[in-house]
Amino acid sequence: MQIRLENLLKKFNETTAVDHVNITFQEGALTALLGPSGCGKSTILNMIAGILPPTDGKIYFGENDVAEVPMEKRGVGMVFQNYSLYPHMTVLQNICFPLESKKELKKAARIERAKELAKLTRVDELLSRRPGELSGGQQQRVAIARALAKEPEILLLDEPLSNLDARLRLEMREEIRRIQQETHVTAVFVTHDQEEAMSISDEVVLLKGGTVQQVAAPQTLYDNPSNQFAATFLGNPPICIVNGIVQSGRFMAGNTPVRWDGVKHVEEGRKVALGIRSEALKLSNTNEEADFEATIQSKYIIGRDALAVVELNGQPVRFYLTEDLDCLSDGDLVSLTFRNKGVFLFDCETGARLS
Ligand code: ATP
Repeated sequence: MQIRLENLLKKFNETTAVDHVNITFQEGALTALLGPSGCGKSTILNMIAGILPPTDGKIYFGENDVAEVPMEKRGVGMVFQNYSLYPHMTVLQNICFPLESKKELKKAARIERAKELAKLTRVDELLSRRPGELSGGQQQRVAIARALAKEPEILLLDEPLSNLDARLRLEMREEIRRIQQETHVTAVFVTHDQEEAMSISDEVVLLKGGTVQQVAAPQTLYDNPSNQFAATFLGNPPICIVNGIVQSGRFMAGNTPVRWDGVKHVEEGRKVALGIRSEALKLSNTNEEADFEATIQSKYIIGRDALAVVELNGQPVRFYLTEDLDCLSDGDLVSLTFRNKGVFLFDCETGARLS
């Protein structure tokens, strides 16, 4: 079921939580609503679910305006961060619970359906346990099974992995992806974790201050951010931002001239910020190849990656080292060359992407 938000507005007294948002969630896709705390993700989700009424704007499920449709009639399943399972009920009873109102389903059919869902979410060995006897990951699996019990056309997940430890988060996000792909349910997944959004979704809606910053497939968002906020929010290690001005067709980072073709069409004297991803730089092989020079400040290793840090106009700039760490020492002056991806130019004031 396609979901379309048209000029959606939500105000809480003086606070505008969602500011005239237009988003289309594609049928059968998993879309992440991504953004920092307070950007309006949960408010959007709750309006789709019918838990909160919009202040203005429209919500369509397919061609239907759902303004007058109450929550329980929207055909939406919800999964929350805190699982919200019934503690006194067994796993089987929890999954069965939403089906109780389906009088047309006989008890045996309800149990049959609950068992199928338990199998799908891989809790079929735990049917007689109560939530208190389950791990966090197992509880979340039960919560997902319960949300799917009524065969909703839309599944809404609000930070479903936040209460899990790092390893389990990884496992569960792969599970959510598998379950979504097996059921083809249209899913909206709220998270503030960019890596989670990038790994799980077909499309990411990036939000800030109640407004949409960019809607794109995860890799497109990373490779082609539409503004400085998008470039900064995605990526680990984070992109390095260096302020400077355009002078004589170059980017001047303080006193350091930086050669980069992207500044060529930008007017002289404009204050700009250069965004450099860690994989976008390498040590130059020849002097002709060098785009700028800088001094090594430090080097470090994370797992299999070695990184070096140089300083450019007072800002640290990181880059991956492909050579032996020992060939460089702190204080060495090095020549650096841009690779052909991962460098962006932004307007200093608005953050708009210039090239
Ligand atoms: P988080 O990741 O922290 O859950 P979020 O992106 O989901 O954040 P929302 O919970 O949607 O953000 O909140 C958006 C804005 O609306 C925030 O400024 C929040 O303080 C405000 N807000 C949310 N619910 C209410 C409410 N019931 N009354 C007043 N303000 C609210």
